[in-house]
Amino acid sequence: MDGDTGAGAALSGLRVDRVSAHVHFAHTEHVNWVVYSGPDGVTLVDSGYVGQQGLLEASLAQVGVKPDDVDVVLITHGHADHLGGAAWLAEHFGTTVHAHPRELANVHREVFEQVGTGQVLRNGWRPGVAPWALAIVPLLDGRADLGVPSATEPPVRDGRIDVPGRPRMRLVDGHTSGHAVFEFEGEGVLVVGDAFVTGHRTSPLQGPQLLPSMFHRDAARVATSLDGIASSEARVVLPGHGEAWFGPAYAAVDAAVDAGSAW
Ligand SMILES: [Zn+2]
Repeated sequence: MDGDTGAGAALSGLRVDRVSAHVHFAHTEHVNWVVYSGPDGVTLVDSGYVGQQGLLEASLAQVGVKPDDVDVVLITHGHADHLGGAAWLAEHFGTTVHAHPRELANVHREVFEQVGTGQVLRNGWRPGVAPWALAIVPLLDGRADLGVPSATEPPVRDGRIDVPGRPRMRLVDGHTSGHAVFEFEGEGVLVVGDAFVTGHRTSPLQGPQLLPSMFHRDAARVATSLDGIASSEARVVLPGHGEAWFGPAYAAVDAAVDAGSAW
């Protein structure tokens, strides 16, 4: 519990750190997102729960960006804690939203490769699970099935996505069928979503690790698909949950595979 009251409480838990020339990491106690703001425009990667709209706006303001300045949102995967803000931006500002072609069905919420209530209840005895489940209820705002129907696959030119920051997109599946990571090579920054994380309320582990297996569509696949980014030369890794990792991306990947899932 934090002791904040009033207006401060609404913004409690948000921290925005500049991690490279143009990349900012927005960290909250539940989920993270990333703001690229450069001379070529603004790209948001992931966007929090729909109930975190105030935090999303605050994070953009800290970077000097208004919501309608966001040119495009890239979604690592179509889970409620990553696409709520994108749904709001798309609806209110017509913001373009992209995801890997294999992930679009999740982002459109035509399919749900997401942990179900039954799995949560069966694991409710594990430390952290019940508090986590209770905490996210208000963040879902009664719209756990909210998707982004307008989302499309991104335009690619010369191997990179043709949006501000020109990141490279790589499929790192297993968490969902089309989970992707985005590497801003000029910034030395790799945004990994939930391919691996550095912490989560439902896990006793610290540092790079795989999320508990109930969160994955194919838990066995997650570790092997990380091979796809083992040669990344990024020096900053930004996960969907937990703190930023400063150091070689390959070392973070190795550490996550070694640690595996807590359960
Ligand atoms: Zn996820």
